[in-house]
Amino acid sequence: MIIAVASGKGGTGKTTLAVNLARSVERPVQLLDCDVEEPNAHLFLHGTARGRETVSLPVPEVDASLCDGCGECARVCEYHAIVSFGTEPLVFPEMCHGCGGCALACPRGAIRETDHRIGEIETVEAGNVTLVQGRLDVGAAMAPPLIRAVKRRLVNGGLAILDAPPGTSCPVIAAVRGADLIMLITEPTPFGLNDLRLAVDMVKELRVPFAVVVNRVGIGDDRVHEFCREEAIPILMEIPDDRGIAEAYSRGELIIDALPELRGHFSRLLERALELMAPGPDSGRQRAVGSE
Ligand code: SF4
Ligand code: SF4
Repeated sequence: MIIAVASGKGGTGKTTLAVNLARSVERPVQLLDCDVEEPNAHLFLHGTARGRETVSLPVPEVDASLCDGCGECARVCEYHAIVSFGTEPLVFPEMCHGCGGCALACPRGAIRETDHRIGEIETVEAGNVTLVQGRLDVGAAMAPPLIRAVKRRLVNGGLAILDAPPGTSCPVIAAVRGADLIMLITEPTPFGLNDLRLAVDMVKELRVPFAVVVNRVGIGDDRVHEFCREEAIPILMEIPDDRGIAEAYSRGELIIDALPELRGHFSRLLERALELMAPGPDSGRQRAVGSE
C-alpha cells in the first residue's frame, strides 16, 4: 500500500504530514523521500544510516574515429541532448534522459553509453521507519530518473508513505504514479485553493484515488472546504494553525512529539486512508471518491 503525499506548491506542510504520519504508525513503514531536489524528511527522523548508493544515467559517448557526422543521433533525440552540424556530435549530459535512442539510431555504431552520475540514494533506519531518500546532485536536472530509482527500493507488501516533490510537473507525476492513494495537502487561502485545483486536475488525469488534508486551519477563508464539498473530495484531516507546530518544525521536531495530543489525529488519518483504499462491497464507490 502506497500513500503519496503531494501538494500543488511547496511550503504547505507536505513533509510534516509525511513524517508525522509515518511515525504515528505502530508498525514498520517505509518512507520514500522523492522530493529529490530538496529532501528534508531526514531532518525530523534521527536514525542510523544503512547505506548510500550512487545513481547514474547512461549517456552517449561518441567515437570520433567511427562517426561520419550523418546527424541521425541528433534527429532522434527529443531532448536536444546531442547535436550535430554535419560533424562529430556534441553531447550535453545534463539534458540527456538516458533513453538509449541515439545509440540505437547510429548507423555506424559510433555511440557507446557511459555512466553519468545524477545523485544518490540514502537509507536510514529510524525506529519503525525505514527512510529511503534521493538526493539530486547540484547542477543535475534529471529528477524523474532519480525518483524512479528511489521507488525501485520499495519493498512490496508493506505500508509505504511517499513524500512527492511540490507542484504538478514531471517529477511529481513520476513520484505519485502507481500510488494507491494521494493525499493532497493545502492551506485554506486563495493561493492554497489555486494550487489545490491544479493538483486535483493532475491526479484526476492519473486516475488515482485522492483526498485532502488541510493545514493551518484558522487562517484564510473557507473556500478550500467549499471546493472539496462541491467536488465530493474527502477531507481526511485538518491541522490547526498553531504556533507550537511552527516552533516544533523550526526545531526539527515531530509535531506528534511536541504536541502529543495530535498523535491520535495522525493515527486516525491512517485509518481513514486505509478505509478509502480497502477493497470491499462499496470499494468501487470509495475508490471513485475524488478520482473521477
Ligand atoms: S540517450 Fe536519449 S536523451 Fe540521451 S542523448 Fe541519446 S537520444 Fe538523447
Ligand atoms: S548517428 Fe553516429 S555516425 Fe551519425 S553523427 Fe551521430 S554518432 Fe556520428
